[in-house]
Amino acid sequence: MAANPEQIDLESFWLPFTSNRAFKKKPRMVARAQGMYYWTPEGQKILDGVAGLWCCNAGHNHPKIQAAIQKQAAEMDFAPHFNFAHPAAFEAANRLCEDTPEGFNHVFFTNSGSESVDTALKIALAYHRERGDAARTKLIGREKGYHGVGFGGISVGGIIHNRRQFSASLIPGVDHLPHTHDLSRNAFSRGLPEHGAELADELVNIATLHHPSTIAAVIVEPIAGSAGVLMPPVGYLKRLREICDEHGFLLIFDEVITAFGRLGAPFGSQALGVTPDIITTAKGLTSGTVPMGAVFVQDKIYDAFMEGPGDAIELFHGYTYSAHPLAVAACKATQDVYREEGLFQRSAEMAPILEDALHSLKGEPNVIDVRNYGLMGAVELAPIEGKPGARGMDAMVRAFEDGTMVRVTGDTLAFSPPLIIEQTHIEQMVEAVRTVLRAQ
Ligand code: PLP
Repeated sequence: MAANPEQIDLESFWLPFTSNRAFKKKPRMVARAQGMYYWTPEGQKILDGVAGLWCCNAGHNHPKIQAAIQKQAAEMDFAPHFNFAHPAAFEAANRLCEDTPEGFNHVFFTNSGSESVDTALKIALAYHRERGDAARTKLIGREKGYHGVGFGGISVGGIIHNRRQFSASLIPGVDHLPHTHDLSRNAFSRGLPEHGAELADELVNIATLHHPSTIAAVIVEPIAGSAGVLMPPVGYLKRLREICDEHGFLLIFDEVITAFGRLGAPFGSQALGVTPDIITTAKGLTSGTVPMGAVFVQDKIYDAFMEGPGDAIELFHGYTYSAHPLAVAACKATQDVYREEGLFQRSAEMAPILEDALHSLKGEPNVIDVRNYGLMGAVELAPIEGKPGARGMDAMVRAFEDGTMVRVTGDTLAFSPPLIIEQTHIEQMVEAVRTVLRAQ
């Protein structure tokens, strides 16, 4: 059992993406988890509406995943994967590639979403160079995109606050597509919004500006999570794919949130019917239990690296902890749980229930949009004048105090529950938010 938080000195830990001074005055702690719930150190039960941080798709502390991690910890602590390997890492890779979209048969292991993104960008640049197309050096991201916190990720990312403290030192040769969030045309959409596919055509203008022969890759989240759950308009991703094909750009889908069942299929690209060239993942890969990321590439990409001398290192990239034994054990067990318990199917089945429940919040105080796809949803609140983000933050804090964890970005409350969620949990979560909104 964790120590009483009142007795812990909170000074030394610098919390990520958090107002440290505000948090340390009034901390929100969790100390135990099981299934759909966290418990605070004081014993209050908290319904988890966000799978921790879009991670714990199999529900917390799944016994099978827990046992696999414990077994591995007792067997071998670490295995190097530079010129050596652990057999289980190959098994994990093979198992993962059983569920990938057609043509994806290779996976590069990382330790986080940020590392997956930077790995994908480097693979894209190196791929063109391997093929003798070294002038393709430009990378195209999108406004409001979140691709983690590495220099590559924040450069292609499009969230201003994540970039401004480092704006003089972002990587060069990056441009951004416009975002697709348009409440004037798409507020209260169920599923993919109707309007905005034409925004993909801005890629043609960007290509004309830089010259198509200079562009290496385009990276987008199929559904933008961190900027507030922004769905792609109907036809938008297909149009991006077409333009990329026309000009030889690689299309990277950052599926750190959307992979592993969030949209009712193993990968979001399968649910949305558009196949990219590279897919980045993390989070649900191990159901959040052990840090791990994975980058999946189409065969044409892997093959392009395999053409030089047979004893040459094909990609000068990798992490000490790529395919760490604990992560591999967690990954294999997690993927087994997803399959044995039919959790991707379950996610698809629960999605309409979440949709109806979230949209029942339309008309509650300050709700200016509700949107959803799969087991992802958002409720956007009108900002308080002069204090953007304050209403959303207050709602998140009150919900937690009342026993429900939701995620806040700006004035948007985001929902991405574990895939094991049941109808009663959905009702409980949405009624908790309704109560908070009415009390604000
Ligand atoms: N890419 C996307 C789409 C994400 O949502 C996230 C995290 O939320 C990341 C990358 C970064 O992942 P990590 O925090 O594991 O580095």
